[in-house]
Amino acid sequence: MHEMALAESMLEIVESAARKHGASRVSAVRLEIGALSHVAVDALRFCFDAVTRGSLAEGARLEIDATPGEAWCMTCGEGVPLAQVGDPCPRCGGYQLTVTRGDDMRVKDIEID
Ligand SMILES: [Zn+2]
Repeated sequence: MHEMALAESMLEIVESAARKHGASRVSAVRLEIGALSHVAVDALRFCFDAVTRGSLAEGARLEIDATPGEAWCMTCGEGVPLAQVGDPCPRCGGYQLTVTRGDDMRVKDIEID
């Protein structure tokens, strides 16, 4: 389960951002999770609750924005939407695709008190 590692690195980002702003408490964390990132959102929420216990982000609301997947198709020579890794190009049906967006997760912003 790599969600625990993700939650821990999220907490590091959140804590250092909060400290930079002199915040004593984080009330919400907004995340962008790519459709192709294989992050299990329920597991991530669970892990986030666990790792933030006792930190300044304890009890913070976790808001999740899903980012759609995108790939570059060599055959078409353009960017195309991609629902899932391993899917063919929706335009030409080919597999010469390089994922360009939606395969990662990042902390977009945080709300502090
Ligand atoms: Zn194509």
